[in-house]
Amino acid sequence: MEIKRTSEIGFCYGVRRALKIVERALGEGKKVATLGPVVHNNKVVGELLGRGVEIISDPEEVEGRAVVITAHGSPPFTLEELARRGIEIIDATCPVVRRAQIIARNLAEEGFEVLIFGEEDHTEVRGLMGWARGRGLAALSIPPPERLGRKIGVIAQTTQDPDKFAQFAADLCRLFLPDKLHIRICNTICPEVTRRLREAEKIAREVEMMLVVGGKISANTRRLASLCSRYVETFHIEGAWEIPEKAFGCRAIGLTSGTSTPAELVEEVERRLREEGRS
Ligand code: SF4
Repeated sequence: MEIKRTSEIGFCYGVRRALKIVERALGEGKKVATLGPVVHNNKVVGELLGRGVEIISDPEEVEGRAVVITAHGSPPFTLEELARRGIEIIDATCPVVRRAQIIARNLAEEGFEVLIFGEEDHTEVRGLMGWARGRGLAALSIPPPERLGRKIGVIAQTTQDPDKFAQFAADLCRLFLPDKLHIRICNTICPEVTRRLREAEKIAREVEMMLVVGGKISANTRRLASLCSRYVETFHIEGAWEIPEKAFGCRAIGLTSGTSTPAELVEEVERRLREEGRS
């Protein structure tokens, strides 16, 4: 069996960095709570819980612990509230997300309404809405014109598919340009996500089946799987135990992972395919 794997697998830079920051805080003997899971992966989260890390969903819940802001970031009012209560903040916001937050803030300060191409319930998008200070609107389809003013700044959730963002921006210009004074489009998509999507797409055209490894709740893993499924039969699996039986009969199989998947899980999938796959 030939196995084609994307060159980047396992955690992305932002997740690796956030985990290192948590490790460092634990190494310094700090009691730590993370605002949401530091990574969308049950195995890693379980290990951190076992080492005394608490996961909180509301900053109000924290007492006597330093609070880690995860790679997805937080709205400024959350940081302000924690600071007001004298709680130590350990900021592990990914620099790519931080850039998107600054762009959202600057657009809002320049009088733009900030249209965020993304899932409104996602932690990162909620953070970006906060940075837009009341001028944000999150959507995956074009909102009705009456919901937008005459100056629109467009950004994207960092893990969105760049092709879909380009289409969204093009549709927006086509529909709204006659009436709007300004439409400013800022590409805030993560370069690492873009590279993984492009490479996975290329591989998906060359194999009989794609396996995309990652948590079922990981939005970027779901997006990778959805993209690959346009070209070839694709399975979103959480680990080697979920490899479908028919995969072992393939001559060429593609393998990739979401940005919150530990590399060991992908390596286990690859090992099992090599051991049990068609020779
Ligand atoms: S996917 Fe990109 S933006 Fe998101 S945490 Fe990873 S490196 Fe940062």
